[in-house]
Amino acid sequence: MDVSFILDSLNDKQRDAVAAPLQNSLVLAGAGSGKTRVLVHRIAWLMHAYQLSPYSIMAVTFTNKAAREMQGRIEELVGVPPQGMWVGTFHGLAHRLLRAHWRDAGLKENFQIMDSDDQLRLVKRIMREMNIDDTRWPPKQVCWFINGQKDEGRRAAHVPDSHDPFSKGMRELYYHYEEACERLGMLDFGELLLRAHELMLTNPPLLRHYQERFRHVLVDEFQDTNTIQYAWLRVMVGEQGTITAVGDDDQSIYGWRGAKIENIHNFTKHFKDVQTIRLEQNYRSTGHILNAANGLIKNNDDRLGKELWTDSGDGEPISLYAGFNEQDEARFIIGIIKKWRDEGAALKETAILYRSNAQSRVIEECLVREQIAYRIYGGHRFYDRLEIKNALAYARLALDPNDDGAMERVINVPPRGIGERSISTLREMARDQGCSMWQAAQLIVDQAIMPARATNAIKGFQQIIDDLMTTVQQPDLSLGDIFEQIINDAGLIPFHEKEKGEKGEARVENLKELIGAAGGFSWNPEDEAFSSPLMAFLDQAVLDAGDAQADEYQDAVQLMTLHSAKGLEFPLVFLTGVEENLFPSKMSFEEPGRLEEERRLCYVGITRAMKKLYITYAESRRLFGSESFNSPSRFIKEIPPQCLEEVRLRSQVSRPVSMQRPDYQTEKARLQNSTVLNNFKAPEVNVNMGDRVKHPVFGEGLVINYEGQGPQARVQVNFDDEGSKWLVLSFAKLEVL
Ligand code: ATP
Ligand code: MG
Repeated sequence: MDVSFILDSLNDKQRDAVAAPLQNSLVLAGAGSGKTRVLVHRIAWLMHAYQLSPYSIMAVTFTNKAAREMQGRIEELVGVPPQGMWVGTFHGLAHRLLRAHWRDAGLKENFQIMDSDDQLRLVKRIMREMNIDDTRWPPKQVCWFINGQKDEGRRAAHVPDSHDPFSKGMRELYYHYEEACERLGMLDFGELLLRAHELMLTNPPLLRHYQERFRHVLVDEFQDTNTIQYAWLRVMVGEQGTITAVGDDDQSIYGWRGAKIENIHNFTKHFKDVQTIRLEQNYRSTGHILNAANGLIKNNDDRLGKELWTDSGDGEPISLYAGFNEQDEARFIIGIIKKWRDEGAALKETAILYRSNAQSRVIEECLVREQIAYRIYGGHRFYDRLEIKNALAYARLALDPNDDGAMERVINVPPRGIGERSISTLREMARDQGCSMWQAAQLIVDQAIMPARATNAIKGFQQIIDDLMTTVQQPDLSLGDIFEQIINDAGLIPFHEKEKGEKGEARVENLKELIGAAGGFSWNPEDEAFSSPLMAFLDQAVLDAGDAQADEYQDAVQLMTLHSAKGLEFPLVFLTGVEENLFPSKMSFEEPGRLEEERRLCYVGITRAMKKLYITYAESRRLFGSESFNSPSRFIKEIPPQCLEEVRLRSQVSRPVSMQRPDYQTEKARLQNSTVLNNFKAPEVNVNMGDRVKHPVFGEGLVINYEGQGPQARVQVNFDDEGSKWLVLSFAKLEVL
């Protein structure tokens, strides 16, 4: 069979990697050099040149979106969907194994996955039951501790004993948490991995089965695997299988979540006869973008060391924009996007990247004002929204009324007269009797231990859940019908309709969207892992981090944190909030190694851009409820100045930044003094951009913009209490503070 189509569009080194013999291999290469492309082509090669069945291939990616993309690209290349191949994230694949072998894994058949909110709630509940002071043991920190231990593959029993009372207490809480999860049949994200790993270790015949099945395992973004993921890979590959891992040490950005760069160093020790391949040509970005990335990452020590090059020419320099504040920064970005759109570019070619999720709000508001469609990855996920989680909780109860987490969530939503007192009676009864809250409710009703009104309210809730349990058993109802019924029976729509304003409206729309999403959900009845489409849907809702409000194919600007941008590429990229204390984040100054990780994150950000990159920062920023004045990030200074040009305010002319390393304080002063635009003076009032001013009616604010000359001159002031307003300067009676 002619397999040249697989190799045609590759360079020599990529070809070496794709057409390598059936042996372990490690592809180490910088951003945009085609690592993911190599993986996809390697899979096609294994199927065509080595005649391996798709059934014997497992590919691990970092996000669900990447997994879907990979599946699409394989299909495109080989012409048919790769039936039987496992492509997914570590969590997704572990989950699949556990669903298929729940009994061997010591789980309940209908085990539930907890997201981080559920986890936090459970920890709080346990602490309440144990009367533990949550100021001394902040629940979030407890979650952090537990997750960290699981990432290292340690159960409570494996955590070393310590004399330090704090560590002792954490360990104790971990014990109780483990016990509660076991009892409730709940698994957190870390547990999926740990349990799947243990399942393989404790069940040799099963392990043999999978080792024989998956003859070849491929891993993308290998630099970000943590201890337990790496251990699981080693076990799954075993002595017979082979592994292809691709990664880039300069893009390791999950150290804070337990990722181990050492896994790259150990790879050649732990796997036999590893062929290591390096790729150096970048196909993604222009010369300026690439030189900026190279110049920046040079400042890190301990690199495996590689330089990327491109033959695609320098392209446009990177534009640097200093906003007066975060509003001005957002406005500038949206202005550029509109210009791009008007010139015919698609919105989805644009990404706005930020260090912290909270930064998105101002940008979102600006996009909404300008009626530009956008989509957020991660962060406020659709399935994370309150109204959606409530509807899903009802669905969970319909499958298993003993799901205490779901019961606590919705027993009184919408309000039905089951107050906090009744709920704690239920909780106590459940604890005393060692049963679920659902069972406790029945006991309470039977024994009539509550006042009649409270008992009746509980009966009402039982009736709803009983009805829903019947609904979900009906074979002829589609998943969309089931959700419609759930949402109606639970009374969620009238409940939110009563809420005032847009919020309630949006919630109702989201619930309708959920019915739509359920209706469009495709479920493969042959998939051995799930016993019903509803169960598959509920699990996907928890696991899928990628699905946000706009649908995937709609043309929309893409907003995401730098972490979620890994592996992706966009023609136009905005790297925003590039300021000291924000990026690098304040926290990174405290712990050794974290600043380097921030720099790698910046490297990831820069290398997402294909044609044009904007770097923006704000001189003052309101974030997390307070205002700060940060200097531009050190990362900007680390970019070779010849790759950068500064954007002048309100004029489309740009000029190169001085060739000397700019000292940013003087650079700013120079800009403000030398540019007429930046130093606007009206006839009588001397108001500069960035000044704080006082207005007799509106109070204090910051000058963020101006328009016109002489008597027509207007300024835009962002008032602390009144928001932003345009004022005619000669009438406004502004006082400069
Ligand atoms: P990252 O480190 O960001 O994940 P990567 O190394 O995985 O990057 P890819 O995403 O595989 O890089 O490739 C980057 C871009 O370059 C893609 O658009 C890809 O299609 C293109 N590309 C890779 N190799 C070639 C090639 N030989 N010819 C043409 N285009 C290529
Ligand atoms: Mg990649």
